Amino acid sequence: MSGRPKIFGHLMTEVIRKGTCVSCGSCAAVCPVNSIELDAGTPKLAGLCVACGMCYANCPSAEFDVEAMETQVYGRTRSKEEADIGVHTGIYAVRAKDESITEHAQDGGAVSAVLSQFLSGVGDGVVVTGLDSEGVWAPKPVVASTEKELLDCAGTKYTSSPTLIGVDSAVTEYQKEKIAVVGTPCQMRGLRKVETGEFAEAKINDAVDLKVGLFCMETFNHASFLEYLENAEVDPSDVDKFEIKNGRFIALQGGERIHNVRLSKVKELIRPCCHSCGDFTSEFADLSVGNMGSPDGWSTVVVRTEKGDKALKTSEKAGLIEIKLIAEDDEALAPVKKLARKKRKDAAKYLKESS
Ligand SMILES: Cc1cc2nc3c(=O)[nH]c(=O)nc-3n(C[C@H](O)[C@H](O)[C@H](O)COP(=O)(O)OP(=O)(O)OC[C@H]3O[C@@H](n4cnc5c(N)ncnc54)[C@H](O)[C@@H]3O)c2cc1C
Ligand code: SF4
Ligand code: SF4
Ligand code: SF4
Repeated sequence: MSGRPKIFGHLMTEVIRKGTCVSCGSCAAVCPVNSIELDAGTPKLAGLCVACGMCYANCPSAEFDVEAMETQVYGRTRSKEEADIGVHTGIYAVRAKDESITEHAQDGGAVSAVLSQFLSGVGDGVVVTGLDSEGVWAPKPVVASTEKELLDCAGTKYTSSPTLIGVDSAVTEYQKEKIAVVGTPCQMRGLRKVETGEFAEAKINDAVDLKVGLFCMETFNHASFLEYLENAEVDPSDVDKFEIKNGRFIALQGGERIHNVRLSKVKELIRPCCHSCGDFTSEFADLSVGNMGSPDGWSTVVVRTEKGDKALKTSEKAGLIEIKLIAEDDEALAPVKKLARKKRKDAAKYLKESS
C-alpha cells in the first residue's frame, strides 16, 4: 500500500452520494472506533475518524475487482463456460426433507437445512435476516443459535438489512467463534472484502466459516414498499409470504394469493443501488441459492468452494436434504444464465450513463 488510505470521506463521495451504497453495513462493522452508524440504511459518521481506511477498503461498492477477487478466493478466474454465473464446481436441485423446514422456507428450504446442519455440527451461530415485531416487514440481522431461531427467519424479505452489522454483533456481542452467514450477492462481496487484502478484519474473518449467498435481482426501498402496499390495500401484517416468480410480485396469506401483479408494477420501488449491481447469483459465496432453474418447491444450489460442497454433502448424509445434480447444459439453467447476463449488462449500462 502506498500513500494515505482512502477513508470515510471517500466513501461519501465515491459511493454514498453516487447512490451505489447497498446498505450492507460492512463499513460500520469494521470501523475500529465504532464511528459509523447506519441511518435508514445510509452510513453516517457519528464520531471521530482516525483515518485508518478500513471502511473504504471493506466496502463492496468501492473498487471491487472481480478478476482479482476470483483469483484470491478460488485460485483462478472464471472459465468461458462460467462467464454468466461465476466460478463453480457443481449445480444441484435441492429440497429439504423435513416438513418443519419446508413449511417455513421460501422455496426448497435448502438454505435453512444447510444452516440447521451447520448449527448442529461445526458451527455455534448463523447470521440470518429476521423481521421486526411491528408487522411491517422491516428486515433486521439476527444471530441465531438454535434451530427455532433459525427457522423463525426463513423466507425471503424483499427489502434489505445490514447483514454485516449482524456479523459484527455475532462476533463481538455474542462471542461466536464459528458462524455461517446468509446474504444477498452484495453482502457476500462485502464479506469477501473483509476476508481478503491488507485491510481484512481478522476477528470477523476468523469467525465466518460458511457464506451462503442468495440469487438476487433487486430489493425494494422499505418506505416505498410500505406506501405501495397501503395504496394496494394490502396490510403487511396479514401477509405470511411475498414471492417474486415468473415475472409476478405476489403476496400470500395462508397459502392464498391476496395480491398478484406484474413485476413491472413494482419497478419504481427498487433501490437505486440495485440498478448498478451486476451480480445475480452471489458469485462470491461458498454456496449460492435461488429458485430459478429448479421446479417449484426445490432450490437451485450453485457450489463454488470445497467448504460449500462439504456443507451440502454433509446435510445430505445427515438426511436433511435430497439433492439432484443439474448438468451444466441442462436447459433449466438457461434462464438463470440469461438473467445473470442481462443483470450484468444492464448494470454496466446504468453505471456508464450515470457517471
Ligand atoms: C431480495 C431477494 C431477491 C431474490 N431474488 C431472486 C430471484 O430473482 N431469483 C431467484 O431464483 N431467487 C431469488 N432470491 C432467492 C430466493 O428468494 C430464496 O431465498 C432462495 O431460493 C432460497 O430458498 P430456500 O427455501 O432455500 O431458503 P430459506 O430456507 O427460506 O432461507 C432463506 C434465507 O434467506 C435469508 N434472507 C431472507 N431475506 C433476506 C434478505 N433480504 N437479505 C439477506 N438474507 C435474507 C433468511 O434469513 C433465510 O435464512 C432472492 C432472495 C432475496 C433475499
Ligand atoms: S476510523 Fe477508519 S473505519 Fe472509521 S470512519 Fe474513519 S477511516 Fe473509516
Ligand atoms: S460498506 Fe456497505 S453500507 Fe458502507 S458505504 Fe459501502 S455499501 Fe454502503
Ligand atoms: S440487486 Fe445487488 S445491490 Fe441490490 S440487494 Fe441484490 S445484490 Fe444487493
